[in-house]
Amino acid sequence: MLTPVWIAGFDGQRQVRCGLDGLDVQDDADVRSAIERHLKARAARELPQRLRNLAEAHGLTVVRVTIRDQRTRWGSCSPHGAISLNWRLVQMPDSVRDYVLIHELMHLREASHSRRFWRLVHEACPWHVEARRWLRRHGPDLHQPVADVPGCRGALAPQGVDER
Ligand SMILES: [Zn+2]
Repeated sequence: MLTPVWIAGFDGQRQVRCGLDGLDVQDDADVRSAIERHLKARAARELPQRLRNLAEAHGLTVVRVTIRDQRTRWGSCSPHGAISLNWRLVQMPDSVRDYVLIHELMHLREASHSRRFWRLVHEACPWHVEARRWLRRHGPDLHQPVADVPGCRGALAPQGVDER
């Protein structure tokens, strides 16, 4: 889980550590936007490549990948093969992130959440039960990465991967 840690300020500058990356921020009010900007940039850099690697491993082709700021879903897959991913996926353990990516990729083979769909997910991602348990338990926290910073508020928490 992402835990921002305050580091002593220099000349009025403050720094927040976000995993291995240090972020300079001006003041408390800037913390949330600085962390979100940083994570969104990481998401845009890392998620499309990971999705394409997993697609290739499963013999699938993704038409388009978009990184979005979804409030209620971790991802979605259009009937035309375009996949949208929530930038907050970069805050998850790799195995959970991969489950969400594989879940969306399997929708390229089966659009609905049918028995056949879950069989495909199970074959491609045998750890999906643990991953879904993690999402139910910790998913809501990802909407409050800096909830302990005064003035920051959390948002709605997704429940399923792309079920409403
Ligand atoms: Zn789904």
